[in-house]
Amino acid sequence: MVKIPKRHEVCRKFKEQGGKVAAVLPIHYPRALLRAFDILPVEVWGPPQVDVSYGGAHLQPYVCSIVHNALSFLKTGGLDETDIIIVPHTCDSLQGFGSILLDFVKPRQPVFPIYLPRGKRSEDVEFLVNEFKSLYRGLEKITGKSPMDDEMLKRIEIEEEADAKLKELYEIRGEFSFESGKTKSRSSKGEALSTYDFYRVVRAREFLPAEKFIEIADEVISEYSFVRDGVPVILSGIVPEPMEVLNAIEEAGGFVVVDDLACCGRRLYGRGKSSEPLKRMAERIIFGPPDVTRGNLIEERFEHLKYLAEVTGARGIIFYTVKFCEPELFDLPDLKNMLKSAGVPSVQVEIDIGDPLPHQTITRLTAFLEVLA
Ligand code: SF4
Repeated sequence: MVKIPKRHEVCRKFKEQGGKVAAVLPIHYPRALLRAFDILPVEVWGPPQVDVSYGGAHLQPYVCSIVHNALSFLKTGGLDETDIIIVPHTCDSLQGFGSILLDFVKPRQPVFPIYLPRGKRSEDVEFLVNEFKSLYRGLEKITGKSPMDDEMLKRIEIEEEADAKLKELYEIRGEFSFESGKTKSRSSKGEALSTYDFYRVVRAREFLPAEKFIEIADEVISEYSFVRDGVPVILSGIVPEPMEVLNAIEEAGGFVVVDDLACCGRRLYGRGKSSEPLKRMAERIIFGPPDVTRGNLIEERFEHLKYLAEVTGARGIIFYTVKFCEPELFDLPDLKNMLKSAGVPSVQVEIDIGDPLPHQTITRLTAFLEVLA
């Protein structure tokens, strides 16, 4: 079992060394900018096990469980150790969450929204750069620091290295290359990580400092092998919660060879080029893998998923969606039809991240995998 430090220990240690901790809501934000201010971003994807009645006092029942749980978590003290809250405008639900914090709940921590452009034009890059400038000014006031360009570029390079390492992990485990297709099997060594264990490592990127993540990824690459049995499939959606779904897929004879999850594969940003730090951060996000919440077209998502199926040998796609997630649900009917026409079958299951994995979901996944086998 790979040893991953616990989230609260990571936060405590970071603060003991003089840094601050930011609670960051999904999905896209400039990690390097926060680190340049000695702030550790720790992401909040729910979490699953909370008493949701606290959030329910402020939210309509048709708001997704990520937002319900996050608000309940905050109201029950789950974010008390954090110093800042960052809310990217990922969707209407998160925009609503940001407004509730600013206008009603008013937490002790300062709240910074980030508005994301919905395109890839030069105007979109400029818009996001301006958002980051505004965040920079806010963080200056809180920390009293004003990192220079060279400090920010240094932080960007470390984050780029961590993302490259994450990509490498996917490639070695799935025996493929994101750029050029199938690769040779690496002779196996060490303990074999299950899908669940692999995703524990991948998702450690949500809270570990990039340097520590690189260290753990290197350890996995050199000392572990991977369970690769089963029908290769792509897992798409927002977040693999409850994480038991990964065991359920494996037990039903599937192998998640790669993913298109908002918390994982949709954030495999490439290395940037610009020497202007804020522009480089903005470009990395805007030109990252297609994501409906950044306004990418269904056609782009279709091409991306079809390409992933080609290079990995995946025989189908599991759309694992969060109930009431409008951005995802808007795309799915057309996206699934386009994939079907291209010979890529898919199945869609909906979950609430706070619920145990329903038997009905396991049955549907099992039936889908049996058909693909
Ligand atoms: S699950 Fe969907 S609706 Fe909920 S916060 Fe994420 S993107 Fe928004």
